[in-house]
Amino acid sequence: MKFYSTNGQAPIASLEKAVVKGLAEDKGLYMPERIKPLPQSFFDNIEHLSFQEIAYTVADAFFGEDVPAEDLKRIVYDTLAFDCPVKKVKDNIFALELFHGPTLAFKDVGARFMARLLQYFIKREGQKGLVNVLVATSGDTGSAVANGFLGVDGIHVYVLYPKGKVSPIQECQFTTLGQNITAVEVDGVFDDCQALVKTAFMDAELNQHMKLTSANSINVARFLPQSFYYFYAYAQMKRMGLADNLVICVPSGNFGNICSGLFGKRMGLPVKRFIAANNANDIFYNYLQTGEYNPRPSVQTIANAMDVGDPSNFARIYDLYQKDHAAICADISGCTYTDEQIAESIRAAYEETGYLCDPHGAVGYRALCEGLKEGEVGVFLETAHPAKFLATVEKIIGKEVEIPAKLAAFMEGTKQSVSMSKDFADFKAFLMKQ
Ligand SMILES: *Cc1c(COP(=O)(O)O)cnc(C)c1O
Repeated sequence: MKFYSTNGQAPIASLEKAVVKGLAEDKGLYMPERIKPLPQSFFDNIEHLSFQEIAYTVADAFFGEDVPAEDLKRIVYDTLAFDCPVKKVKDNIFALELFHGPTLAFKDVGARFMARLLQYFIKREGQKGLVNVLVATSGDTGSAVANGFLGVDGIHVYVLYPKGKVSPIQECQFTTLGQNITAVEVDGVFDDCQALVKTAFMDAELNQHMKLTSANSINVARFLPQSFYYFYAYAQMKRMGLADNLVICVPSGNFGNICSGLFGKRMGLPVKRFIAANNANDIFYNYLQTGEYNPRPSVQTIANAMDVGDPSNFARIYDLYQKDHAAICADISGCTYTDEQIAESIRAAYEETGYLCDPHGAVGYRALCEGLKEGEVGVFLETAHPAKFLATVEKIIGKEVEIPAKLAAFMEGTKQSVSMSKDFADFKAFLMKQ
């Protein structure tokens, strides 16, 4: 499979190039040249298949031409070492729980897949020496990438994060790991971390010294595997006899997650429609209403992983629908909620159903409560475990939230990090010594 750039000015890339480079030369996002429809027999039989079997069928459509079946199967099965169950919340509303992986958020799926695919490429090329992944994080990306790559041979990860600006729970998820993960604590803000990473990729001497790659969320190896769990959600709903009028609601920030679902629909997944649920960062919502895309600086909310003012994957959605606003509106509707509404939804869901949403999932839950039509059944993506947002959630429900053992284990580890100024010369000197 070849990949083209959404900006149309870069050369067509192989899968390996798209994965290693992340972003195309013209700063566009890579898109697969073809989205293969899956056969009707697959959907007829899907409720009898396991998550891994379903995921392998989907993965084969994107990666099967480039990765031999046995290797791809191993990558998929290793990636999905945890379940993504659908849980009933009330009446016709269900949660697809994507928080059973190592860092308790959906980004685990893409990060684990990418780590294993990159390792496959390294082995295939018989590459000598380490491949170094540089990733800047404001919190969740760093933990998913660090844990996704943890213990993967031939790869070393440097996670750059702003000192004092990530929550203690987030910080311990990438500073206590050791092995092939180095946390770099930058005396600056997130943008400084990102600038250090970007400058490093452009520095000729550094790139001579070590092989550098990025694990950005727009990477096709992080993005495409997210479609796996949409098919699996459908299979679970079909098992319950509830898949005929399915609406899937995705709490969205950078729009990678919902875009993977739209790819699924293009492959034949029988989802009636999607809802993109936003917090106060309502750029996509406004696009749906007006047909105009006007990015602006993000505003901070309690669903902070969705605080995005210029969602990267809008370019992919635009490309997928050939810029046709009406076609986009036919498949996706939108909504936007304030922090007060998000808090109210967490409280209402908890009091009325006993189900505790995290602030992101709560946006999705509310959108279904308000947006489902007669006869429709809704599934919202519960993108993280509520305990990841402990202080916020406990304050809203006025009760202690139990911390899952997996999360507690991170918090018991010893923090190890390298202190760094935001001056590129210091960061470069550090890397040159590695
Ligand atoms: C990243 C993230 C989102 C947003 O996903 P996008 O793919 O950027 O739209 C939502 N919820 C949580 C918990 C996240 O970590």
